[in-house]
This record gives sequence, structure tokens and C-alpha cells, in this order.
Amino acid sequence: MGSRRGKDKLLYCESCGRAVPRTKAVDFNKRSAYSTDLRGDDNVTAFADRTVYYCISCAKHRKIFERKKEIAARRRTRF
Ligand SMILES: [Zn+2]
Repeated sequence: MGSRRGKDKLLYCESCGRAVPRTKAVDFNKRSAYSTDLRGDDNVTAFADRTVYYCISCAKHRKIFERKKEIAARRRTRF
């Protein structure tokens, strides 16, 4: 068998830090809110979407699959 599989890009699990091949990583879109904590009109809350990656076991542990399903269902009902 060839060794082409070794060319898979490695990603690092957000939870345990383990290196995971791209093909086995579970991506999850995480929304973080940043606030400047200033009073009044100067206060700015920004939302940043960030894609994080988990290994399969962390994804299972963190119920990423269920959350992804949930998000997909919510998006569907909005339209
Ligand atoms: Zn992990």
C-alpha cells in the first residue's frame, strides 16, 4: 500500500491537543462574544466565528455531533 495517507494535514484537537489527520477531525463552529466592558454607547460586543477541531473521542465526549445536529435543525426551522 502507498504512503499517500501520510500527507493528510494534521490538526490539533481543541480539547486534548492531540494531532488529528484532517480526514478524522471533527470541525465545530464556535461563536465567541467579545465585549469591551465599557458603559454606554462605547461598549462594543463583537461576535467572532471560529472553527475549532476535535478528535473523534473528544467530539463524542463533548456531544459535538448532537450539537451540530441541533444547530442544523434550528437553521432549518428559521426558513
Ligand atoms: Zn481530543
